[in-house]
Amino acid sequence: MTFQPLPTIALLGTGGTIASTASSSTALTNYTVTEGVDALLMAVPALSSLANIQCQQVFNVDSRNITNAMLLKLANKVNRLLTDPDIDGIVITHGTDTLEETAYFLNLVIKSAKPVVLVGAMRPASALSADGPLNLYNAVLLAASPQVHGLGVLLTLNGSVHAASLVSKVHTSHVQAFSSHEQGSLGQITDGKLQLFQRPYRAHTTETVFQLKGIKKLPLVDILYDHQSAGLHLYEAAINAGVQGIVIAGSGNGSLSPKAEKGARLAKQYGVACVRSSRTGSGIVTSSQNDARRGLIAAHALNPQKARILLMLSLAHTSERSTIQSYFEHY
Ligand code: ASP
Repeated sequence: MTFQPLPTIALLGTGGTIASTASSSTALTNYTVTEGVDALLMAVPALSSLANIQCQQVFNVDSRNITNAMLLKLANKVNRLLTDPDIDGIVITHGTDTLEETAYFLNLVIKSAKPVVLVGAMRPASALSADGPLNLYNAVLLAASPQVHGLGVLLTLNGSVHAASLVSKVHTSHVQAFSSHEQGSLGQITDGKLQLFQRPYRAHTTETVFQLKGIKKLPLVDILYDHQSAGLHLYEAAINAGVQGIVIAGSGNGSLSPKAEKGARLAKQYGVACVRSSRTGSGIVTSSQNDARRGLIAAHALNPQKARILLMLSLAHTSERSTIQSYFEHY
């Protein structure tokens, strides 16, 4: 019988509901982050049969508090850890509210084929039927699975496995809160077994042009939500505040109200990049023949919050509209 050593997984804690407790076991909201990542690890003794785990607390916050500076810190740490030949994969615990933003950012800047898996929970650690422990077990199982090498950054909750590129939080409170819409999930973990159905087709990690070397600060990009009877004032305020990019959460297929259209013209005049995305929550914003003339970039498959992540990274590399448009088509 040959002895297979267990893989070594770095477990990085950043906070979220998975690390939170509430006043009673039936309270599913109104919780606060109280638990360190070592406590999450200790709550799931079965993890020791999957991997040797090295814990690190990177920060411990509700994910609404995550900033660009924290994204850079986390990504640099992950890239550093993955150059260590003794580390086989990474699991990051994270709040679910902005999980898709962090996952997509890492998916664009991590330069390794080793598994990076993000995980959270919809119920606090103190709840009856808390979902965190099984989600964490599944995340470590995933990060320790050779089949997911080269698939980019992944996310798992409630037994589903998603690619960072297209997954989005789609429910405020259910444990099945994440969906990859038309593309569907990449796979499922049931009874401690991983089954993959498909590969992600958007370019990621080692296939992107983005490098963080030398980047101390990300360009400022705002999201402006369009609606009937919208005004111009938010566009003026964003441009006056010195943003380098604006993502418009437009209606339907990235349609713009008259004032949003005017805001986009103003942005072009001031050299501010402007992306047309959709507030619908699913589907693709297709390029229009008029985009180049209007100085606009179509968001394609990215929702507004992911379009902001890609626009920040794009602007750190280039200000060329057509190059940025091609990033939106490929990433
Ligand atoms: N408020 C939490 C957060 O940190 C929500 C969660 O983790 O489910 O995003």
